[in-house]
Amino acid sequence: MNYKIALIRGDGIGPEVVEQAVRVLDTVGKNFGHTYAYTDVLLGGCATDAVGKSYPDGTADKCKACDAVLLGAVGGPKWGSDRPAEERPETALLAIRKDLGLYANLRPAVLRPALTDACPLKPEIAEAGIDLMMVRELTGGVYFGKRARYDTADSGVECSDLMAYSEREIERIGRRAFALARLRRKKVTSVDKANVLETSRLWREVLHRLAQEYSDVAYEDMLVDNCAMQLVRNPGQFDVVVTENMFGDILSDEASMITGSIGLLPSASIGNSAPGLYEPIHGSAPDIAGQDKANPIATILSVAMMFRYSFQRAEEADAIESAVDRVLAESFHTADMAGSGTPIGTKQMGALICEQITKK
Ligand code: NAD
Repeated sequence: MNYKIALIRGDGIGPEVVEQAVRVLDTVGKNFGHTYAYTDVLLGGCATDAVGKSYPDGTADKCKACDAVLLGAVGGPKWGSDRPAEERPETALLAIRKDLGLYANLRPAVLRPALTDACPLKPEIAEAGIDLMMVRELTGGVYFGKRARYDTADSGVECSDLMAYSEREIERIGRRAFALARLRRKKVTSVDKANVLETSRLWREVLHRLAQEYSDVAYEDMLVDNCAMQLVRNPGQFDVVVTENMFGDILSDEASMITGSIGLLPSASIGNSAPGLYEPIHGSAPDIAGQDKANPIATILSVAMMFRYSFQRAEEADAIESAVDRVLAESFHTADMAGSGTPIGTKQMGALICEQITKK
């Protein structure tokens, strides 16, 4: 196959980790007979420096002409909150997700076998294994609702942020979660706050309808406060966890912490038709940029997700994931990860993973 891939290298460590992910793409290409047409797309602080806007005109169209988008990371102190909105990298991230219609954010939280010791939970919990997929609604809810700030007569300034969800928005993310569960261990946990919020009560109604349709998938409701607790008490119980935007933002960070280093965790944002966006969950790590210290594994595993979810190529995805596991099993680690001996650099980690893909 020939795949068209947009590369958003971004800021800080972004270009370094994308470089290693491209090596992995090329290695998979050689081993499985694929070729690629890469399109470099400027976005983030580097775009502000080059053209005065973090989200240059035509960015979405360039991405839409591709089969998938790979993003390193954007942002840094140079483009802080004192800048106008159009110069800030965060503005570009929100804009691209919206323009590509990416309403589902998939974040696997997997405790890789060689890293059980890095799990901050009790050994007996870590040894039981963690392999869950957090599915977060990405374009609705309180982050996108109407905001207001006004003066009151007797309480000073008052603000409000509106949380709104439609049946359509809930149904499409719900369907994604059930479809994913069918590819995994066939269990969906839907997380809400239905004892308090009206949006959660609608969420539950829609999810219950879907649960009847996908009757081969086990289903349960869980309140968000309980889910926060269960993630550290017994994370092994979860397969697919689906939830609204803000709950997902918080719970997915919690889930990532129980699996060890931030440098290991990939993510995918997908919509119905436009290309999916694949990126590590970490930021641009300006403190280590340009020093060959960044862990490229999260970006490399994002490429595995690209093969699995955009290209429907499970074999290539498995090859990348198992190459990463084999390198980690040999105790190779970057500076952000626990491990004995001298940490290796970004480039060497990329090279070792490519070597393992070729060996297999
Ligand atoms: P960060 O994720 O960049 O860094 C947090 C800590 O983790 C730092 O100590 C960093 O060195 C370390 N770290 C992160 N990724 C690593 C990797 N791959 N290998 C080794 N160590 C790694 O978060 P931050 O410091 O809060 O944010 C820095 C910048 O990144 C900010 O401008 C922020 O807005 C931006 N950001 C961007 C994204 C994105 O592009 N999607 C996401 C989060 C933060």
